[in-house]
Amino acid sequence: MVDNASSESSNQTNQNQQDPQVMSTQQVGKYTVKVINDKCIGAASCVAIAPGTFELNEQNIAEIISQTGDTPDMQLLGAQSCPTAAIIVTDNETGQQVWPVE
Ligand code: SF4
Repeated sequence: MVDNASSESSNQTNQNQQDPQVMSTQQVGKYTVKVINDKCIGAASCVAIAPGTFELNEQNIAEIISQTGDTPDMQLLGAQSCPTAAIIVTDNETGQQVWPVE
């Protein structure tokens, strides 16, 4: 006698993998942001705009805490808010610097 109970494995939930809302903001990151420490004066406007990306350390210098903690727009706005242009934003896809514009 043969027991066929082990052949039922077709009812898996593979369709859940394509959720468009998840894919829109949490990829590897559209941009890479960097802080030039020598230029940072601790004004903290970047932290106010993009707190998931920037944080002030004990020396009042902005540090990057995540490359995907805010939307790309917020990262860019945070960089543009810096009074000393201490934040460099690079597009990961093209490799081009998008801020500051030279
Ligand atoms: S806005 Fe510019 S100067 Fe201010 S903390 Fe951020 S990087 Fe530093």
